[in-house]
Amino acid sequence: MSNNHLKLRPNVAAASIILTAIGAGAVWAATQQDQWGIHDMKRPQPRPVATTACCAAPADAVVLFDGKDAAAWQKAGSNGEAAGWEVIDGNLCVKPGTGDIATRQSFGDCQLHMEWMVPTDLHCRGQHGCNSGVFFMNQYEVQVLNSNGNDTYVDGMAGSLYGQNPPLVNACKPQGEWNSYDIVFHGPRFADDGQLLHPATATVFMNGVLVQDHFTLWGSTAHGARAKYSAHPDQLPIRLQDHGDPLKFRNIWLRPLTAADGT
Ligand code: MG
Repeated sequence: MSNNHLKLRPNVAAASIILTAIGAGAVWAATQQDQWGIHDMKRPQPRPVATTACCAAPADAVVLFDGKDAAAWQKAGSNGEAAGWEVIDGNLCVKPGTGDIATRQSFGDCQLHMEWMVPTDLHCRGQHGCNSGVFFMNQYEVQVLNSNGNDTYVDGMAGSLYGQNPPLVNACKPQGEWNSYDIVFHGPRFADDGQLLHPATATVFMNGVLVQDHFTLWGSTAHGARAKYSAHPDQLPIRLQDHGDPLKFRNIWLRPLTAADGT
């Protein structure tokens, strides 16, 4: 046990006494702080990751679309059927009517980068004409929609957690320009009996601007219905929505999130 850790113990003991009176929140804090000593040199170093210019995939990313093919994707809900969308000029293009597409691989907690664009020839009418979406774990949607000069209900705007939380600001670029999403998503956890242990959270940057600040999701996103949680595995595919509108995507990559000690 390090000296640093020893020095911590009286604080932790004092905290334990106070906690009985204060409650579970403080217990949680003490538990977290007892894992490592403050400035503990034995705490694992974060892995070094080589980076490149803004927004290209870092060295440890899972590349989901790099402009070449849609091999990382399949028709959503199918057992390996090829995605119906098309790769045109290095972009992954929604082919309306072919259905949603989903990653062949399943993911849990992750950092996702993606870019999307609403072509200028699309006629946006609220939720119609310019709509898609990215669903984490197949059920938690960050809305993709033209929200530049296209008013709609705010919990369905670009950057919203659909049906739950509007974006903090409207950072949507005009039609014909590329938008970027950088999203940190943590999935919910369930006990063996299906009870919710803790909910999902999402932090979203749109074009570099914070639009969701560690929002705690109320459950699976839904249209016109209150959200609720239903127990599911810790890893599930990411899904992109065919809402009938030919939007374009590019440069999609993801980093599964693990702590430096591998947990
Ligand atoms: Mg949508």
